[in-house]
This record gives sequence, C-alpha cells and structure tokens, in this order.
Amino acid sequence: MTYKPSRLLTYGRQCLDDDDRRAVLEVLESDYLTQGPYVERFEQALAQRFDSPHVKVCTNGTAALHLAALALGWGPGDVVIVPAITFVASANCAVYVGAEPYFVDIDPVTLCIDPEEVERAVLRLRAANRRVRAVVAVDMAGHPADWVALRALADRFDLQLVDDACHALGASYAKGSRHIGDGVHADVTTLSFHPVKHITTGEGGAVLTRDAQIADKVALLRSHGIRRDREQIADWDGPWHLEMTDLGYNFRLTDIQCALGLSQLRKLDRFVARRRAIAALYDTLLPEVGSLRSPVTSPDVQHSYHLYVVRAPFRSVADRRVLFAAAAERGIQLQVHYRPVPLNGYYVARCEPDVMKRLPRAADYYRECFSIPVFPQLENDEVRYVVDVLRELCEFRSVADA
Ligand SMILES: *Cc1c(COP(=O)(O)O)cnc(C)c1O
Repeated sequence: MTYKPSRLLTYGRQCLDDDDRRAVLEVLESDYLTQGPYVERFEQALAQRFDSPHVKVCTNGTAALHLAALALGWGPGDVVIVPAITFVASANCAVYVGAEPYFVDIDPVTLCIDPEEVERAVLRLRAANRRVRAVVAVDMAGHPADWVALRALADRFDLQLVDDACHALGASYAKGSRHIGDGVHADVTTLSFHPVKHITTGEGGAVLTRDAQIADKVALLRSHGIRRDREQIADWDGPWHLEMTDLGYNFRLTDIQCALGLSQLRKLDRFVARRRAIAALYDTLLPEVGSLRSPVTSPDVQHSYHLYVVRAPFRSVADRRVLFAAAAERGIQLQVHYRPVPLNGYYVARCEPDVMKRLPRAADYYRECFSIPVFPQLENDEVRYVVDVLRELCEFRSVADA
C-alpha cells in the first residue's frame, strides 16, 4: 500500500469553500446577527428546493423534532412508534413532550422502519388500549423509508407521520417522482444541518410541512410562544406589546447560520452527486473484500448516502474493537450507526424487559454494521485507500481465524 492520506478520514465531515466564508462575513458586517432577513431567505430557499410550502428553521435537528412533537400535540398517554435503529433524538422528541416512544424492528435490507412491524405494533398496542398517535420514520443512511406503505398505515390507523430526514437531503423515491421533504406522504419532515450532514450551518435544523397551522405553531414555539403581530393579539396595547400565548422555547437559528445555510444549499446537488459517486466506487471495490457486505438500495429509490454502512460477520464485540483500533492506526476513524436506541440505559429502564427479543433484526444489524468515510471532499484515492485497509484488515482477520 503506497498511497497514504494526509488527514484523518472520519465517516463524515463538512465541505466549506470561500463562498461560504464570504456569506458569513457579509452577515457579520450587517445590522442583524439574528432575527434578520437571512432567516426567511434561507427558509424560502429550502421551501423551493424541497418543494415544501412551509419551512421553519431552528437551532438543530433535535429541536426540529421537539417542535414537531409540540406542534402535532403529543402529550402524556400518547405512544409514538420509532425504529430501534436511529439516533436517540428520533425517540427523545416523544419523551420531551410526555409521550412514550415504542421501538419497532427494521427492514433488514433498507435498514429503515419495517411497515409490517409498524402494523403489528399498532394492532398490539391498540388491543392493549394504548393511544398510538404517530410514527417517526427515519430515512436511514439516506435510504428513503417505505413512505407509500407508511402513508397507507397512517391513513388506515389515523396516525401522524413524521419523517426524520436528517440523513436524507436530496434523496427521492417512487422512481424519482417523490422527494424527501416534499410532504406528499409525511405530515412533517425534519432536517439537521450538523457538519456531518449533507449541508451545514454549524448547528441547525428545519421543520418542513404542507400544513400551515403546524408551521405557524412551530414558528410560535421556536420563539418563546410570543406573538408580536397586532392582528394576532386580542387586547393590543401598542407596538411594544409582545403577547406570550404558549409556553415556547428559544430554538431560533441565527442570520450568521442562515447565510451559511443559503450558500451551502446552492451546492447540495453537487454534494449529493459526489456522495453517490463515492458510494458507486465503494460498490465496485468492496465485493473484492470477501467478508464484507455493501449496502443494498431498493430499485425505486435514489439514496443520498449520508452514511455508507457495510456489514461484516464479526463474531464478537471484541472483533469489531480490533478492526476499529487497527483502522484508526491507519488514519481511518470508523463509526457505528447505531447501537439500538432501547439498549441505552435511559431506555432500558423504560422499556419492557428483554425488549431486544422482539427486535432481532436490529440486534443482528448492530452486531455487523460499521460506517466508512463518505463526504463530498473525499478523494477517489482516499476511497481506494479505505478499501485497501479493509482488505488488509479482513485478510488479517481470516488469517487469525485459520
Ligand atoms: C443528526 C440527527 C438528528 C439530530 O440532529 P442534530 O442537528 O444533531 O440535533 C436526529 N435524527 C437523526 C436521524 C440524525 O441523524
């Protein structure tokens, strides 16, 4: 192996250029650092890009989920169905508002929530007189969930449907006719602009919806639940009158961040195209590494590769620790997305005992998965280097096995 990258290769990282830096500097020299004109400009650009009539930006993807939970009116006694494999925030948003997440198993191929498992869970929970209100589905790694099937279930069981699309900017489904964020199947879509995601504002997030009332509620609650429009205040005292009608939060995104977001959004298509090209290169090279399995994409979706997750037949947790340590020595920082959410101490104490027994595919997936680097500035040489390292380490494993 002759080529050696000059930097640590992480599973994901931001991609910034001079345009981004100039955009931020422009705001720093303007009158408003927050609550200024860039917020609405970013929201309008997002609305146009994702074909969603209403977009409200907020501090991060977790706040977007929290605001969605509040705007959808979840509360104590409500059950929200969540996939077992996701980032904890997908489940935490239910807990924030006093509702209870109920974890269901994933589809072993797409790694997204399995609609048949959702159906079984709704029937089981309703038979036990539980009030199932909503499903939060995640477009895992950038692979759209089965939105057509989920919408059919939502209509049949009168459920609200949230798309935690933090992995899936730029992804599409139904043979390209539907886009993540367009709100045709999901009632609410949430995005994150963390540096590892497709576009970044440092920290940042957004709520997208076709429902004007949900959007108004999100806008109200992200800024203290305070109204300032004269028409919305019953006994208006004067221009100083700010009326707090709901208990809200300060989940606002700054103009500095929105300017960066605007500049980043212009490059989203290029970023997604580059992620797909990297994935295609992995797809052709990885089959040479016998023991590894590449991700599989359903024929009618376009993946946007927030993550490139491979699977290996590890025999133990220690096995995977050895691989991670050896890869780190070679400048590659592998990661796992994700350890099943119900295995976290917080949820262990709140789920039924042996909850993983009814989540066998999540358990299998967790045993085998790891994420390898994919981000727009990853060079083809670096992709080949990652594959070479995996080949070396997997050969090492098989020698050790013999
Ligand atoms: C990143 C992420 C979040 C949270 O977004 P933040 O901006 O980090 O708060 C939520 N859900 C999923 C699936 C994510 O990947």
